[in-house]
Amino acid sequence: MTPNPAQLDQRFVWHPFTQMKDWLRTDPIVLERGRGSVLYDTRGRAYLDANASIWTNLHGHNHPRLNRALREQLSKVAHVSALGFANPPASRLAAELVRHARFRGEGPRLGKVFFSDDGSTALEAAIKLAHEYTRRTRGPQPRTRFLGLEGGYHGDTLGAVSVGHSPLFHGGYRDLLFKADTVMSPYCYRCPYNRAKPERADARTYRSCRWECLDRVDEKLSAARRRGRPYSAFVVEPRIQGAAGMIAQPEGWLKETCSRMRSHGALIIADEVMTGFGRTGSAGSLFASGLEGLRPDFLCLAKGLTGGYLPMAATLTTQPVFDAFLGEYSEFKTFFHGHSFTGNPLGAATALESLALLKSPTSNRHRHDLEKSLGHELASLWGLPAVGDVRQVGLVAGVELVRNWRTRASFPLEVQTGIRVCQAMARRGVLTRPIGNVVVLMPPYSTTSRQLKTMVTALYEAIEETMGR
Ligand code: PMP
Repeated sequence: MTPNPAQLDQRFVWHPFTQMKDWLRTDPIVLERGRGSVLYDTRGRAYLDANASIWTNLHGHNHPRLNRALREQLSKVAHVSALGFANPPASRLAAELVRHARFRGEGPRLGKVFFSDDGSTALEAAIKLAHEYTRRTRGPQPRTRFLGLEGGYHGDTLGAVSVGHSPLFHGGYRDLLFKADTVMSPYCYRCPYNRAKPERADARTYRSCRWECLDRVDEKLSAARRRGRPYSAFVVEPRIQGAAGMIAQPEGWLKETCSRMRSHGALIIADEVMTGFGRTGSAGSLFASGLEGLRPDFLCLAKGLTGGYLPMAATLTTQPVFDAFLGEYSEFKTFFHGHSFTGNPLGAATALESLALLKSPTSNRHRHDLEKSLGHELASLWGLPAVGDVRQVGLVAGVELVRNWRTRASFPLEVQTGIRVCQAMARRGVLTRPIGNVVVLMPPYSTTSRQLKTMVTALYEAIEETMGR
């Protein structure tokens, strides 16, 4: 008898970020079809895609317009190389990205687009460009260090890991990395300056503070100056840090931080791999940088770029950075970097259609309503003692589960609280994946308010089932 896909998977596939010993003990869900926000497994069972297939999907699965754009391009050509040639969809996509990445009403500051394949490679390009630009243009003082936020996550290739600061994910590779510094992240729920005991009634509001975390930024920058080694660039996930546990930044914090980085002379690398394309708000810009009024030197995009259809990424940057790599051939100032599938026409054609969908007034209105409904639905979770914090930015939400909400004591990771809650959600037909003890909800924009309610109800019941009321 020929083995079924689940058996083949367990025999041959090694899954990312997965303890394979546990995986081999499970009966895996094998997803074979999708429509809108619903995915179907090989047994015909339906699931809601509550984390947009690891934060990638925007408009839903099997979208007729994205399918058409992809098919039309496929009837022309699937792939041609960007090494030495241009192709129509990639050229048009670059122009569209530049148009949408105008922040603070200014002209096209981020006017050059370097394509690559996924979030990690978008960051690799930004890191190399920032390093090389700094070296070529910023005088005799060496600027080789990058600064990032505690818990920052920017991908799994070694450059991206170097500028990341997740002890669990990155610790093992320490010997392979270049050195980068961290500064305190505004994780208000666990802020050492926040000693106020949480009250159920106002659990959502943090103690008002004087942003002591900004003093830590100042100290870091002054210390680097004193050592004679100022920072080359500040790498940041604007508005909300994803893999750190959906940590939302208080309004205005990042703008203030970035203005200090600028005074220090550091470039700003905005990692919008997760936050891009409307995920963090529907009020104007498609990007968190735009919504926060930032002026980044690099904008890294992936995941939602193609609506979540195909792996494709882009690193946008400024004319001065571009110019620093211009010269006679024999000077070898070329940016020696790139991938076989750079500027892939299938991805670019799909991305163009995804952008058109995003900019339609109905999509914008629906996202706005969905954000409001999500906030409304999430409010029900505060009644559960195992819910310590509920964080929402736009259509991104993280629910932090705790052993004791009064003390904010965490569950040890080995108890797998988040994983068990997500398994209980899957039994209720809702798929998502936790970050430690934080359960993520990130509905595709195709989600109806009824489906949204089902997602949150499944989370509520799963927490009750796993930990009691
Ligand atoms: N940056 C951020 C903020 C991310 O969330 C991720 C992935 N979760 C990445 C970079 C890496 O993206 P990829 O997995 O596509 O390499």
